[in-house]
Amino acid sequence: MQGLTISPIAAGALPPECEALRAEVRAFLAGAMADIPPARRCRNWSGADPAFSRKLGERGWIGMTWPKRYGGHERTSLERYVVLEEMLAAGAPVGAHWIADRQSGPLLMRYAPDTLAPRIVPRIARGEAFFCIGMSEPDSGSDLASIRTRADRRVDGRGDGWVINGRKVWTSGAHRAHYMIALVRTEGRGDNRHGGMSQFLVDMKTPGLTVRPIVNQLGEHDFNEVTFDDVFVPAENLIGSEGEGWQQVGAELAFERSGPERYLSSSQLLLEMLDAADAADPRHAVALGRVVAQYGTLRQMSLGVAGMLSRGENPALAAALVKDQGALVEQAMPDLANDLFGGRVEPGSTLDQTMRYTTLAVPSFSLRGGTREILRGMIAKGMDLR
Ligand SMILES: Cc1cc2nc3c(=O)[nH]c(=O)nc-3n(C[C@H](O)[C@H](O)[C@H](O)COP(=O)(O)OP(=O)(O)OC[C@H]3O[C@@H](n4cnc5c(N)ncnc54)[C@H](O)[C@@H]3O)c2cc1C
Repeated sequence: MQGLTISPIAAGALPPECEALRAEVRAFLAGAMADIPPARRCRNWSGADPAFSRKLGERGWIGMTWPKRYGGHERTSLERYVVLEEMLAAGAPVGAHWIADRQSGPLLMRYAPDTLAPRIVPRIARGEAFFCIGMSEPDSGSDLASIRTRADRRVDGRGDGWVINGRKVWTSGAHRAHYMIALVRTEGRGDNRHGGMSQFLVDMKTPGLTVRPIVNQLGEHDFNEVTFDDVFVPAENLIGSEGEGWQQVGAELAFERSGPERYLSSSQLLLEMLDAADAADPRHAVALGRVVAQYGTLRQMSLGVAGMLSRGENPALAAALVKDQGALVEQAMPDLANDLFGGRVEPGSTLDQTMRYTTLAVPSFSLRGGTREILRGMIAKGMDLR
């Protein structure tokens, strides 16, 4: 839009070291993404490029806040936030390492600090080890405690370990991941329905493990079905304590729900709309100004969650709020684009392609990482309303 000077991302000043880093990241992205067309950028953190992840690893932009003994860089959570928001705003193909950086690395450092973490986490920080999340099952999504995939303790020719049988579904990135962190049942369901579950690190190359693609409504292969048929996992791959999987998964979900990707997944469409907008049209100025203001509010809230995480506080309630509100703003964006530009978008233009992609992508935003109803239930509980 001619004459418009607001940047949806740059609003809100951070300490000078963060802004210096922002300039460094932007300069890197200008070069590294020069050949990536806008229509591919709208895949945002669903887009994956292992070579790109390795480049970020070399620059120290994965595992940024982690201790140096785990290959991390001991930078602040605000510095990490700046890198994340620049990657998302640019639509960089960060999907390969995203889950490992966001939740798997922190989980391993917290619950397997002397066993698995020293071996695996430095590889995550180098952009060489990718993870997937093995929580949902065909009949267990929102009601995660009803999972049926189980692990039984076994000592046999393969050693001392566990044998896993069952099925996971909607597993994003399983086809390119090196590891899964799987939540499974290690005891039957007793009186405590949240008891008897445990988490395991599973090497995706283990015999008996099969990954089958599920093509989404965009026609893309992002998530999968993963079946476990007598999959042997060594005893040392138990993460944390046996039977404590539910508590551990709660901490993991707080990481999963808290990042800026929960309101910046459709930033490409906003940028395209700003490019196409007519500064002389007050409808455009008001509508887009409103979205930019919403971004500003969500950013402040999301930064607040980042602060809570860095202080070791539990951000579950705040993260649920940001994710719920972020999904609302993002899901309204394709309709807004249609209101403002529908009927006069040049077919095949980057705005046209971005509108089409985003229209089909946004319904999943209030499903993945916890549905709208589940998050609102958590918010109500957190406010003592139920
Ligand atoms: C793009 C995408 C990526 C995903 N990636 C992964 C992944 O990598 N790993 C993984 O494990 N899972 C993944 N998932 C699965 C996701 O976590 C589940 O889809 C989600 O938890 C909902 O579970 P469900 O699909 O079984 O729906 P259900 O739980 O069956 O829900 C169906 C509907 O009923 C509502 N509902 C359910 N229970 C209640 C209740 N108690 N009160 C009110 N309403 C309720 C829900 O809100 C929803 O609207 C992904 C999903 C998507 C869309």
